[in-house]
Amino acid sequence: MNFRRGDNNTKQKARVFFLLFTLACLGLSLALAFTSRGAAAKEIPRPVRIGENRVPLLQWQEQFTLNINILSAMPSCKVVANKLEMTLYPEGDQALFSAEEQFLDQNLSVRQAGAEVFLTVELGNLPPFFSLRPTDRGYSIQWLEAGLKGKRIALDPGHGGTDPGAVGRHLGLLEKDVTLPIALKLRALLEKAGAEVFMTRTTDALLDPEHRQGRSVRPDLLLRRDSIDAYSPDFSISIHHNSWKTGDVQGLETYYNPGSLNGFLAKEAAVEIHRVLLDTLQRRDRGIKDKKDLVLQVKAPAVLAEILYISNKEEEALLAAPDFPEQAAKALFRGIAAYFQDPGGE
Ligand SMILES: [Zn+2]
Repeated sequence: MNFRRGDNNTKQKARVFFLLFTLACLGLSLALAFTSRGAAAKEIPRPVRIGENRVPLLQWQEQFTLNINILSAMPSCKVVANKLEMTLYPEGDQALFSAEEQFLDQNLSVRQAGAEVFLTVELGNLPPFFSLRPTDRGYSIQWLEAGLKGKRIALDPGHGGTDPGAVGRHLGLLEKDVTLPIALKLRALLEKAGAEVFMTRTTDALLDPEHRQGRSVRPDLLLRRDSIDAYSPDFSISIHHNSWKTGDVQGLETYYNPGSLNGFLAKEAAVEIHRVLLDTLQRRDRGIKDKKDLVLQVKAPAVLAEILYISNKEEEALLAAPDFPEQAAKALFRGIAAYFQDPGGE
């Protein structure tokens, strides 16, 4: 496979392969239609050796987009030494697969170790930024140029309306009244840098119109998660301010969900954002943590920033300062820019 832009040979290969792929799909549908009639089809299909060419595993469609037709398993991914490695079929979940050898070259290889199948992509010659997206038949890896220009970013200001979030003890500051101005200022900075921005809310209201004060916000969080997924962003960030039952706890925490589809990228983003928040705000480092919040269960790489403790007297005063939203938005912008390797961020 050739990853270079404007390569006609690749385009032609893609067309030929698309035809083969369509035929293979038809064949597979017929095969499945027959096998599903068997009464006890408990036998797990044996993985087919690469090159036997029954079901296309890899479909080269557009430049910088690799479609992977995975029949059963969710892939798990990690980046090691400039290589992306996906576990296509974890042990115990064997499935029929094959790949077109013509689509494998030094950039891409598939290897099998026992029942596990791995896809490895050399990232060296590709644009530096990529993400995984679900498709009808599996997943696609999409490579993007570095920089914020044209990137789709979701901003999720925590709480709102009938859900104030945490409430400061000394000034009575409401969490929802700090998260929104930060997100609005961050949107302006991102749009100025050429990004497209989606916000889960732009006013003092929840997404769930049925919510009543003191009731569960789970339906609202489900709506947030779904609205972020529907926008299909390249990156999503939720903004919150932390709280604890005692007033002494203070500092910065950044969360991501390692089990999400792009968890391995979310971690990279969390590291950049956390670093810049610490640099800018000069507060205690409470670390980067694994969390499974609903807004972190989205398909895009997603981070939740807990910016200072509203329950701490000193930090509540910082959060209440008129210039705080601007300062926090600039820090988040620099962190997101660093993640997208945009030189305008520093
Ligand atoms: Zn919150």
